[in-house]
Amino acid sequence: MIVPMKVAVLKETFANERRVALIPANIPHLAKAGLEVVIESGAGMSAGFLDEHYTEKGATIAAREELFAAEIIAQVRSYGANQEAGRDDLGRLREGQIVIGMCDPLGAPQAAHDVAATGAASFALELIPRITRAQSMDVLSSMATIAGYRAVLLAAVELPKMFPMLMTAAGTLTAARVFVIGAGVAGLQAIATARRLGGIVHAYDVRPACREQVESLGGKFVELELEAGESEDKGGYAKAMGEEFYRKQRELMASVVAESDVVVTTAAIPGKQSPLLITADAVEGMMPGSVIVDLATKRGGNCELSQADSRVVEHGIVLLGPTNLPAEVPNHASQMFSNNVTKFLLNLVKDGNVVLNLDDEIIRDTLVTQGGEVVHSRLRDLLGLEPLDQLAADEASEPASAVDEPNASASESEANDHPEGSD
Ligand code: NAD
Repeated sequence: MIVPMKVAVLKETFANERRVALIPANIPHLAKAGLEVVIESGAGMSAGFLDEHYTEKGATIAAREELFAAEIIAQVRSYGANQEAGRDDLGRLREGQIVIGMCDPLGAPQAAHDVAATGAASFALELIPRITRAQSMDVLSSMATIAGYRAVLLAAVELPKMFPMLMTAAGTLTAARVFVIGAGVAGLQAIATARRLGGIVHAYDVRPACREQVESLGGKFVELELEAGESEDKGGYAKAMGEEFYRKQRELMASVVAESDVVVTTAAIPGKQSPLLITADAVEGMMPGSVIVDLATKRGGNCELSQADSRVVEHGIVLLGPTNLPAEVPNHASQMFSNNVTKFLLNLVKDGNVVLNLDDEIIRDTLVTQGGEVVHSRLRDLLGLEPLDQLAADEASEPASAVDEPNASASESEANDHPEGSD
């Protein structure tokens, strides 16, 4: 009799994290691929999925300690993205086990080192390559979609005005003016949401390709007399532009910021601090009651006065710096995340077995630890570890070694130009 491999879904332990890694609807798809799902009791509760919803779809329920017997652990936030509460689970991981989740690989590379020491093979979902085949697994896009939507709702609640233009017997109300800085996945969803609420939306991005996307959503692309040049890398991400560019950008955007009731900033550069685009002076130039939602505070912020996970009021302007908006929309965020994880698992498991096929770009780019080593070349670089092929060469020249032979293919993996664990 073939015993199916088990996928364990843990209850998230990060503060205020309400998402769950797998939802009931995906369980039958995994069963078809030979995977049995075990859920920690209550894991889906805060996202609206009860234990019985899981059991109806064929999952079993177990206590947390028992779940670590499973071959695969699926989490929204694995250790790197949950270092305080997640530390308890580190000792429960074991050699050969597979851990799949977001782990903030580039923001917290040391955590990968700790996971490697357990012998588990871990995958960072933030490092999914942005290729067509991997679109259905792309958690950064899914979660950015939710964040962009939620950011506008937060602003709408804070704003002492309504969004739509209204002509009433009691007079005419002008529409709220919304400025979205950074028109990537989160920015485009912010534009769409602000438009649906009836706002007048302007947007700017350094990547020229964004203009058409902004306009297709009913936004107006802001023209700045800036020479952005080659602002997009081959992965579709923005390149860092240099301080002189940002200085000019801040200056030119200040008047648009001043005329806006709401500013939503989403500007990010993969693996780097986010550019500072709104100075304290520019904030002071806004009308009291205006709102700034800075979605980049986790990596420095786009606004000088915003603070991570805080509501700050300066000169009468409300500044919000939320870092985990998808957790505030846990049902749909979990649905999207679960679909992403399911597609990832179906790509990883062949005939009921995990196949670490390093010729597959998706597997190679996301594999962070294996066989006791951090195997991702970019993380090794960040940790000051020598490249694995170099290590292998050094060991080959030594008379004897207790270290497992490192995986040379993984070391050949191209440095992955992807953002660190935004969620
Ligand atoms: P992101 O979160 O890294 O950045 C958000 C936005 O900030 C980007 O649009 C970027 O251009 C912008 N930005 C950076 N510096 C700026 C500045 N100084 N001023 C204004 N804007 C600035 O990126 P993201 O939203 O995750 O993705 C960006 C793009 O990647 C997408 O719009 C899309 O074109 C591409 N993408 C491709 C795939 C795929 O092919 N599978 C998947 C997802 C995204």
